[in-house]
Amino acid sequence: MMDHKHQHIRRALLRWYERTRRDLPWRRTRDPYAIWIAETMLQQTQVKTALPYYRRFLRALPSVEALDRARRAEVLALWSGLGYYRRAMHLKAAARKIVRHHRGKLPRDFRALRALPGIGPYTAGALMSIAFDERHPAVDGNARRVLTRLFNVKREKALQQVAARLVPASRPGEFNQALMELGATVCLPRDPRCPRCPIAAGCEARKFGSIRLQKRLAPKPAARKIDWPLAVIRKNGKILLRRRPDGGLLPGLWEIPGGERINRESVRTALLRHLNGLSQRVKLESAMGVIRHNITNRRIRAPVYLCVCAGKTSPPAPGWRWLPLSSLSRHPLSSLSLKAVRLITEP
Ligand code: SF4
Repeated sequence: MMDHKHQHIRRALLRWYERTRRDLPWRRTRDPYAIWIAETMLQQTQVKTALPYYRRFLRALPSVEALDRARRAEVLALWSGLGYYRRAMHLKAAARKIVRHHRGKLPRDFRALRALPGIGPYTAGALMSIAFDERHPAVDGNARRVLTRLFNVKREKALQQVAARLVPASRPGEFNQALMELGATVCLPRDPRCPRCPIAAGCEARKFGSIRLQKRLAPKPAARKIDWPLAVIRKNGKILLRRRPDGGLLPGLWEIPGGERINRESVRTALLRHLNGLSQRVKLESAMGVIRHNITNRRIRAPVYLCVCAGKTSPPAPGWRWLPLSSLSRHPLSSLSLKAVRLITEP
């Protein structure tokens, strides 16, 4: 009986997926490396945001060996603006292990994949099924919601068992992607579109009227609003950047100098305070505009000032450097600084 239901779900879902699937570059390849990069980028990023990054990354670093050989700064530069930079560092660390222990090929083994930095059960399952055509479930948040409703399961262990039994031996990768796509586009958290669902006939939650809509999350604590003035300091066709120290937040990324305004100080005072001894030599010339940037629970308002620097061109401290604007794409910039650079370079 259950087998019959499984068969029906597999067939109906795969047929629906063939008709509706989005044409995405990582769905046109069987290269495990490319699929790994895509799955990592998509973990906290929307498809349309990830697309140009995916293309750029693979053009620059088309193989595990290339990723292993690349400098950390180059990998960060390719990730610059995508956020959650730890993902990029995990990719690089995993590439080193793959070259050393797996002859440069992603291992076709669930446990060996799990042993690599940054690869959790979902990514390992996605790689096993999508790249290697092995019968493994890949349960992300969307697939989890569909399975919970379809089989009326609540406990994690039962859910994993259902997922493992349901994934077919033939086309497991496409099936897993179909399940996730159904959750992303039809079986929505608050408003499931059951009349459009290809597997509605077998859905327990629909049959028993027990679709529990995902509760609205408790209101988040109010985000803290902060002012973070930035100084674009120019001299001889270059601008002054500083590199964030290793061991802190966003280690190794380059940023335009500036920082938080505190208490009642003026924006100008705050800016000069963050210039690390340069304040005597820097003159604020004009306001270039304001950029906004949200991170976790902070809403940043960053007025950007064009400044000129008088006197010597030596950087004020180790880790600061004058760089030509044309070289910035080769340096990993923080997302906030990337927005400020666009303000300068894009009309
Ligand atoms: S019938 Fe409705 S609740 Fe059930 S899987 Fe389909 S969309 Fe989700």
